[in-house]
Amino acid sequence: MIQLLGAHTSISGGVSTAIDRAEKLGFTAIQIFTKNNNRWFAKPLDENEIRLFKTKWENSGIKFIVSHDSYLINLCAKDKTILEKSRNAFVDELERCEALGIPYLNFHPGSHGGQGEKDGLKIIAESINIAHEKTKNFKVSSMLELTAGQGTALGYKFEHIAKIIEMVEEKERMSVCIDTAHIFAAGYDIRSPQSYKKTMKEFNQIIGFERLKCFHMNDSKKELGSKVDRHEHIGKGFIGLEGFANIMNDKKLRKIPKILETPKGKEQLEDIENLKVLKSLIK
Ligand SMILES: [Zn+2]
Ligand SMILES: [Zn+2]
Repeated sequence: MIQLLGAHTSISGGVSTAIDRAEKLGFTAIQIFTKNNNRWFAKPLDENEIRLFKTKWENSGIKFIVSHDSYLINLCAKDKTILEKSRNAFVDELERCEALGIPYLNFHPGSHGGQGEKDGLKIIAESINIAHEKTKNFKVSSMLELTAGQGTALGYKFEHIAKIIEMVEEKERMSVCIDTAHIFAAGYDIRSPQSYKKTMKEFNQIIGFERLKCFHMNDSKKELGSKVDRHEHIGKGFIGLEGFANIMNDKKLRKIPKILETPKGKEQLEDIENLKVLKSLIK
Protein backbone atom coordinates (compact mmCIF):
# COMPACT_ATOMS: atom_id res chain seq x y z
CA MET A 1 0.00 0.00 0.00
CA ILE A 2 1.24 3.44 -0.92
CA GLN A 3 1.30 5.87 1.99
CA LEU A 4 -0.70 9.08 1.67
CA LEU A 5 1.78 11.93 1.62
CA GLY A 6 1.68 15.66 0.97
CA ALA A 7 1.96 19.08 2.50
CA HIS A 8 0.05 22.09 3.68
CA THR A 9 -0.95 23.71 0.40
CA SER A 10 -1.81 27.31 -0.43
CA ILE A 11 -5.35 28.35 -1.42
CA SER A 12 -4.20 31.66 -2.86
CA GLY A 13 -6.65 32.40 -5.68
CA GLY A 14 -9.46 30.30 -4.17
CA VAL A 15 -9.76 27.00 -2.30
CA SER A 16 -9.97 24.95 -5.50
CA THR A 17 -6.54 26.14 -6.61
CA ALA A 18 -5.02 24.05 -3.80
CA ILE A 19 -6.09 20.94 -5.71
CA ASP A 20 -4.28 22.14 -8.85
CA ARG A 21 -1.12 22.87 -6.89
CA ALA A 22 -1.23 19.54 -5.03
CA GLU A 23 -1.76 17.61 -8.25
CA LYS A 24 1.19 19.32 -9.88
CA LEU A 25 3.40 18.52 -6.89
CA GLY A 26 2.24 14.90 -6.78
CA PHE A 27 0.60 14.97 -3.34
CA THR A 28 -1.95 12.36 -2.26
CA ALA A 29 -2.83 14.12 1.01
CA ILE A 30 -3.03 17.84 1.78
CA GLN A 31 -3.92 20.33 4.46
CA ILE A 32 -5.48 23.68 3.61
CA PHE A 33 -6.97 26.72 5.27
CA THR A 34 -10.50 27.35 4.03
CA LYS A 35 -9.97 31.10 4.47
CA ASN A 36 -7.23 33.57 5.45
CA ASN A 37 -5.83 32.01 8.63
CA ASN A 38 -5.02 35.37 10.22
CA ARG A 39 -8.61 36.61 10.03
CA TRP A 40 -11.56 35.84 12.27
CA PHE A 41 -14.15 35.60 9.53
CA ALA A 42 -14.36 35.59 5.76
CA LYS A 43 -17.23 35.93 3.35
CA PRO A 44 -19.09 32.64 2.81
CA LEU A 45 -17.72 30.29 0.18
CA ASP A 46 -19.11 30.88 -3.26
CA GLU A 47 -21.37 28.08 -4.63
CA ASN A 48 -19.26 27.96 -7.80
CA GLU A 49 -16.03 27.70 -5.84
CA ILE A 50 -17.47 24.85 -3.76
CA ARG A 51 -18.52 22.99 -6.92
CA LEU A 52 -15.15 23.58 -8.54
CA PHE A 53 -13.31 22.35 -5.43
CA LYS A 54 -15.35 19.16 -5.25
CA THR A 55 -15.09 18.37 -8.96
CA LYS A 56 -11.35 18.95 -9.09
CA TRP A 57 -10.83 16.88 -5.92
CA GLU A 58 -12.92 13.99 -7.30
CA ASN A 59 -10.87 13.94 -10.48
CA SER A 60 -7.54 14.18 -8.69
CA GLY A 61 -5.17 11.74 -7.02
CA ILE A 62 -5.77 13.39 -3.66
CA LYS A 63 -7.20 10.90 -1.21
CA PHE A 64 -7.16 12.95 1.98
CA ILE A 65 -7.84 16.59 2.85
CA VAL A 66 -7.73 18.17 6.28
CA SER A 67 -8.40 21.82 7.07
CA HIS A 68 -6.43 23.77 9.70
CA ASP A 69 -8.45 26.39 11.56
CA SER A 70 -7.48 30.05 12.02
CA TYR A 71 -4.55 30.79 14.32
CA LEU A 72 -6.67 33.40 16.11
CA ILE A 73 -9.13 30.90 17.55
CA ASN A 74 -8.59 30.06 21.22
CA LEU A 75 -11.29 27.78 22.60
CA CYS A 76 -10.31 28.53 26.20
CA ALA A 77 -9.49 32.23 25.93
CA LYS A 78 -9.49 34.05 29.26
CA ASP A 79 -11.05 37.18 27.73
CA LYS A 80 -14.78 36.49 27.40
CA THR A 81 -15.10 38.52 24.18
CA ILE A 82 -12.29 36.54 22.54
CA LEU A 83 -13.77 33.26 23.79
CA GLU A 84 -17.14 34.14 22.27
CA LYS A 85 -15.51 35.20 19.00
CA SER A 86 -13.44 32.00 18.97
CA ARG A 87 -16.49 29.83 19.50
CA ASN A 88 -18.36 31.52 16.65
CA ALA A 89 -15.33 31.39 14.35
CA PHE A 90 -14.87 27.68 15.14
CA VAL A 91 -18.46 26.96 14.08
CA ASP A 92 -17.80 28.94 10.90
CA GLU A 93 -14.72 26.76 10.23
CA LEU A 94 -16.79 23.59 10.72
CA GLU A 95 -19.42 24.95 8.32
CA ARG A 96 -16.82 25.73 5.65
CA CYS A 97 -15.40 22.20 5.93
CA GLU A 98 -18.85 20.66 5.74
CA ALA A 99 -19.70 22.70 2.63
CA LEU A 100 -16.49 21.57 0.94
CA GLY A 101 -16.85 17.95 2.04
CA ILE A 102 -13.60 18.11 4.04
CA PRO A 103 -13.76 15.36 6.69
CA TYR A 104 -11.40 16.85 9.31
CA LEU A 105 -10.94 20.24 10.95
CA ASN A 106 -7.59 20.28 12.73
CA PHE A 107 -7.14 22.74 15.59
CA HIS A 108 -4.95 23.48 18.60
CA PRO A 109 -6.88 22.91 21.83
CA GLY A 110 -6.24 26.40 23.24
CA SER A 111 -4.19 28.53 25.65
CA HIS A 112 -5.58 29.00 29.13
CA GLY A 113 -3.85 32.36 29.75
CA GLY A 114 -3.44 31.81 33.47
CA GLN A 115 -6.80 30.20 34.22
CA GLY A 116 -5.03 26.94 35.00
CA GLU A 117 -4.81 23.72 33.03
CA LYS A 118 -7.78 21.99 34.63
CA ASP A 119 -10.20 24.84 33.94
CA GLY A 120 -8.68 25.38 30.51
CA LEU A 121 -9.40 21.79 29.47
CA LYS A 122 -12.95 22.11 30.78
CA ILE A 123 -13.58 25.31 28.81
CA ILE A 124 -12.19 23.71 25.62
CA ALA A 125 -14.54 20.73 25.97
CA GLU A 126 -17.43 23.12 26.61
CA SER A 127 -16.51 25.09 23.46
CA ILE A 128 -16.45 21.90 21.41
CA ASN A 129 -19.79 20.79 22.85
CA ILE A 130 -21.34 24.15 21.96
CA ALA A 131 -19.92 23.96 18.43
CA HIS A 132 -21.16 20.40 17.93
CA GLU A 133 -24.59 21.41 19.23
CA LYS A 134 -24.70 24.18 16.59
CA THR A 135 -23.60 21.82 13.81
CA LYS A 136 -25.85 18.81 14.46
CA ASN A 137 -25.35 15.86 12.12
CA PHE A 138 -22.29 17.38 10.46
CA LYS A 139 -19.87 14.81 9.06
CA VAL A 140 -16.70 16.83 9.66
CA SER A 141 -14.63 15.55 12.59
CA SER A 142 -13.04 17.89 15.15
CA MET A 143 -9.35 17.00 15.11
CA LEU A 144 -7.31 17.92 18.18
CA GLU A 145 -3.67 18.60 17.39
CA LEU A 146 -1.01 17.84 19.99
CA THR A 147 1.02 20.95 20.78
CA ALA A 148 4.52 21.90 21.91
CA GLY A 149 3.14 23.51 25.08
CA GLN A 150 4.47 26.96 24.32
CA GLY A 151 3.28 29.59 26.83
CA THR A 152 0.03 28.39 28.38
CA ALA A 153 -0.95 26.21 25.41
CA LEU A 154 -2.74 23.01 26.35
CA GLY A 155 -2.50 19.73 24.46
CA TYR A 156 1.20 19.07 25.07
CA LYS A 157 0.40 15.94 27.05
CA PHE A 158 -1.51 12.93 25.75
CA GLU A 159 -3.55 13.16 28.97
CA HIS A 160 -4.82 16.64 27.98
CA ILE A 161 -6.24 15.28 24.74
CA ALA A 162 -7.77 12.25 26.49
CA LYS A 163 -9.34 14.52 29.13
CA ILE A 164 -10.91 16.83 26.52
CA ILE A 165 -12.37 13.89 24.60
CA GLU A 166 -13.68 12.45 27.85
CA MET A 167 -15.64 15.67 28.45
CA VAL A 168 -16.95 15.98 24.87
CA GLU A 169 -20.49 14.65 24.42
CA GLU A 170 -20.26 13.49 20.80
CA LYS A 171 -17.06 11.47 21.06
CA GLU A 172 -17.62 9.96 17.63
CA ARG A 173 -16.90 13.42 16.19
CA MET A 174 -13.41 13.58 17.75
CA SER A 175 -10.09 12.70 16.14
CA VAL A 176 -6.43 13.46 16.85
CA CYS A 177 -3.39 14.67 14.91
CA ILE A 178 0.22 14.10 15.96
CA ASP A 179 2.60 16.89 14.96
CA THR A 180 6.08 15.39 15.27
CA ALA A 181 7.78 18.74 16.02
CA HIS A 182 5.17 19.55 18.65
CA ILE A 183 5.29 16.27 20.57
CA PHE A 184 9.11 16.30 20.43
CA ALA A 185 9.27 19.83 21.82
CA ALA A 186 6.72 18.74 24.41
CA GLY A 187 9.15 16.08 25.59
CA TYR A 188 8.06 12.90 23.74
CA ASP A 189 11.14 11.33 22.18
CA ILE A 190 10.81 9.45 18.87
CA ARG A 191 14.45 9.43 17.71
CA SER A 192 15.43 5.83 18.44
CA PRO A 193 13.31 2.74 17.70
CA GLN A 194 13.00 2.22 21.47
CA SER A 195 11.91 5.76 22.33
CA TYR A 196 9.50 5.81 19.36
CA LYS A 197 7.94 2.57 20.53
CA LYS A 198 7.59 3.87 24.07
CA THR A 199 5.99 7.15 22.94
CA MET A 200 3.53 5.45 20.60
CA LYS A 201 2.64 2.85 23.20
CA GLU A 202 1.81 5.66 25.58
CA PHE A 203 -0.27 7.39 22.89
CA ASN A 204 -2.22 4.19 22.33
CA GLN A 205 -2.81 3.60 26.02
CA ILE A 206 -3.87 7.16 26.82
CA ILE A 207 -5.62 8.32 23.63
CA GLY A 208 -5.90 5.23 21.40
CA PHE A 209 -4.73 4.67 17.82
CA GLU A 210 -8.34 4.59 16.64
CA ARG A 211 -8.49 8.38 17.15
CA LEU A 212 -5.26 9.06 15.22
CA LYS A 213 -6.19 10.29 11.73
CA CYS A 214 -3.24 12.43 10.66
CA PHE A 215 0.46 13.12 11.17
CA HIS A 216 2.06 16.53 10.70
CA MET A 217 5.58 15.65 9.63
CA ASN A 218 7.93 18.39 10.81
CA ASP A 219 11.45 18.27 12.14
CA SER A 220 12.14 20.53 15.13
CA LYS A 221 14.47 23.54 15.28
CA LYS A 222 14.41 23.19 19.07
CA GLU A 223 15.49 20.46 21.42
CA LEU A 224 13.53 17.70 23.11
CA GLY A 225 11.32 19.17 25.83
CA SER A 226 12.09 22.79 24.84
CA LYS A 227 8.34 23.57 24.64
CA VAL A 228 9.15 25.82 21.68
CA ASP A 229 7.27 25.31 18.41
CA ARG A 230 9.65 25.83 15.44
CA HIS A 231 9.40 23.62 12.37
CA GLU A 232 12.47 22.51 10.44
CA HIS A 233 13.05 20.57 7.18
CA ILE A 234 12.98 16.77 7.54
CA GLY A 235 16.31 15.50 8.84
CA LYS A 236 17.73 18.99 9.42
CA GLY A 237 16.46 19.43 12.97
CA PHE A 238 16.78 17.80 16.37
CA ILE A 239 14.51 14.84 15.53
CA GLY A 240 16.67 13.72 12.61
CA LEU A 241 16.17 11.10 9.94
CA GLU A 242 15.97 8.08 12.23
CA GLY A 243 12.95 9.51 14.02
CA PHE A 244 11.10 9.90 10.71
CA ALA A 245 12.22 6.46 9.58
CA ASN A 246 10.50 5.06 12.68
CA ILE A 247 7.19 6.58 11.57
CA MET A 248 7.52 5.82 7.86
CA ASN A 249 8.16 2.15 8.65
CA ASP A 250 5.53 1.71 11.35
CA LYS A 251 3.25 -0.87 9.74
CA LYS A 252 0.37 -0.19 12.15
CA LEU A 253 0.26 3.44 11.08
CA ARG A 254 0.86 3.06 7.35
CA LYS A 255 -2.68 4.12 6.58
CA ILE A 256 -2.40 7.42 8.46
CA PRO A 257 -1.90 10.38 6.08
CA LYS A 258 1.37 12.26 6.60
CA ILE A 259 1.47 15.97 5.85
CA LEU A 260 4.42 18.38 5.87
CA GLU A 261 4.24 21.80 7.51
CA THR A 262 7.92 22.58 6.93
CA PRO A 263 9.23 25.97 5.72
CA LYS A 264 8.52 26.69 2.05
CA GLY A 265 8.43 29.31 -0.63
CA LYS A 266 5.52 30.20 -2.88
CA GLU A 267 6.21 27.38 -5.35
CA GLN A 268 6.42 24.79 -2.54
CA LEU A 269 9.49 23.20 -4.14
CA GLU A 270 10.91 22.52 -0.67
CA ASP A 271 7.93 20.20 -0.09
CA ILE A 272 9.04 18.01 -3.00
CA GLU A 273 12.49 17.73 -1.43
CA ASN A 274 11.15 16.89 2.03
CA LEU A 275 8.77 14.28 0.58
CA LYS A 276 11.67 12.72 -1.30
CA VAL A 277 13.53 12.42 1.98
CA LEU A 278 10.54 10.82 3.71
CA LYS A 279 10.04 8.32 0.88
CA SER A 280 13.73 7.43 0.89
CA LEU A 281 13.39 6.33 4.52
CA ILE A 282 10.90 3.56 3.70
CA LYS A 283 12.68 0.23 4.07
ZN1 LIG B 1 -1.26 23.32 13.86
ZN1 LIG C 1 1.03 20.95 13.02
